[in-house]
Amino acid sequence: MTAPPSPASPWEWTETCPPPCEAGGLLTIDLAALAANWRLLRDRVSPAECAAVVKADAYGIGIEPAVRALAAAGCRTFFVAQLSEGARVRAVCPQAVIYVLNSFPPGTGDTYVRHGLRPALGSREDIEEWAAVSRAVGRRLPAMLHVDTGMNRLGLPPAEAAALAGDALVQDVEFALVASHFVSSEEPENPINARQVAAFEAVRAVFPGIPASLANSSGIFLPQRPHYQLVRPGYALYGGNPTPGRPNPMSPVVRLEGRVLQIRTVREGETVGYNAQWTAPGERRLATISVGYADGYPRAASATDAKRAGGAAFGEAIVAGRRCPFAGRVSMDLIVLDVSQVPAADVCRGDLVTLIGGDLDLDEVGRRAGTIGYEILTSLGRRYRRTYVGGSL
Ligand SMILES: *Cc1c(COP(=O)(O)O)cnc(C)c1O
Repeated sequence: MTAPPSPASPWEWTETCPPPCEAGGLLTIDLAALAANWRLLRDRVSPAECAAVVKADAYGIGIEPAVRALAAAGCRTFFVAQLSEGARVRAVCPQAVIYVLNSFPPGTGDTYVRHGLRPALGSREDIEEWAAVSRAVGRRLPAMLHVDTGMNRLGLPPAEAAALAGDALVQDVEFALVASHFVSSEEPENPINARQVAAFEAVRAVFPGIPASLANSSGIFLPQRPHYQLVRPGYALYGGNPTPGRPNPMSPVVRLEGRVLQIRTVREGETVGYNAQWTAPGERRLATISVGYADGYPRAASATDAKRAGGAAFGEAIVAGRRCPFAGRVSMDLIVLDVSQVPAADVCRGDLVTLIGGDLDLDEVGRRAGTIGYEILTSLGRRYRRTYVGGSL
């Protein structure tokens, strides 16, 4: 993956985007809100440090503008998932501390050193190879010790991590951070949280003096306040609610609008879309908009007769200030809305409707598609006209 071409203004680039009047969908990314979200979390966890997780192209909003805005707000430590993402952060932020959560593929240690990246070492093999790279360059290279306290995904089990303390294996590497990841931090009542905190504390005790990190976005809001020396929010920075079921303390960062292509009226009994899964319950006015699953809008948000009968959730948009339900299947490039509740004069060809924004937030869009807001963000399409607002140099 290569970085986008260097833009004339770092806050907006248009090389890969159609102009607004031509675009089927407009994506507006508010970098001032991103920075404000980071500051809110920073103040909440102080004196712990607040890092930023910018993996997956900064959860879909664009890694370069996100990192520039966060660095300008004062963020010094970034987490990515993969080497290529780390290199992109380094290119815009020469001073940053950058951790790569997915460790490092065999044989790539040199590239990590060249970009000044710190892998999250999660196995003895990882540590052995990083120690060999360290010996080759003649200094103990910093890394994160990744402890698995329950996810069973990446990282050393607590007992194996603790056993490293007296092991010659670790003499050649520098553990600059010891970290683990919550399984269910968005559920504050879940007893797994306390079990993970206890397991993490046991490992920490074996590595005194090494900064520790456990909390993701929701972890920051747990009653135990497991902030330690560093927190690692991702989703909340981008406006996602870290406290599901309670009011969202974060500001929205992403707004998505789709353009109306046609308005039509159907009679009772006519169907809409592929496989005729939605039947008009009476005369209905429909608006077809220029966004579809090829833009990352989930097909699972389709509106069908079966879902309506069963009371299951499906997609909605905001048209001229009113909530309008989807009608029929989400197609590759199109979504049909039932705009019967909107006065005819208030919705015309060329108008924009809101797919994400206002009271239709990321979390609700995810829920209506049977998924989570994280997946909505990281799927945001490439055909949208992307506009960055609120940035400053
Ligand atoms: C993705 C990730 C985070 C950020 O999680 P959010 O829920 O988006 O705040 C933190 N730590 C690790 C290890 C992750 O993989």
